[in-house]
Amino acid sequence: MIVGHLGVAAALARWCPRASLLWIIPAAVAPDLLDFAYALAGICNPYGLYSHTVPAALLLGVVLAGAAVLAGHRATAPVVLMAVLLHLPFDWPTGRKLYWPGGELHGLGLYQHPAVDFLMESLLVLAGWALLRRREGVPRWAAGVLTIVALVALQGGADLAGRLKPTGCAPPDTVAAAVPRPGL
Ligand SMILES: [Zn+2]
Repeated sequence: MIVGHLGVAAALARWCPRASLLWIIPAAVAPDLLDFAYALAGICNPYGLYSHTVPAALLLGVVLAGAAVLAGHRATAPVVLMAVLLHLPFDWPTGRKLYWPGGELHGLGLYQHPAVDFLMESLLVLAGWALLRRREGVPRWAAGVLTIVALVALQGGADLAGRLKPTGCAPPDTVAAAVPRPGL
């Protein structure tokens, strides 16, 4: 899931008006940001093992919630933890990921059906944005029509482009080539 996570972040921000939106948004996409960090560092993170499994998300959520407390956002900390943990079930319809180390891959894999994915994620982010606009004191950049248009466009671009996420894992054919064949 891509912009759908931002819809979840917006809904959380609406329901927890004392929590800081600027902490909830990165928390909602934190497992994906971690994927990018692993890829940049050249670390193989197969099927989200170190970012999207329950123990990894729990650790990430606790670290970010702790950082929020240290930064003086005590009321935001539980929402940050919730935003990170909610990332996992919302990835289930779109991808195929590990949810537990050593477990099976789970997910509907809707990325294979870009039109369905686009519709689902656009509706999710639209619903979150509509909810967030009702929050008192919501920043203008978040409530603006341009924001939702940009997010839906981003989702459309991502669905058209296909898989955008970089990976630090070697392509499967390279791995196969590296395995010594018997008799050679
Ligand atoms: Zn994800």
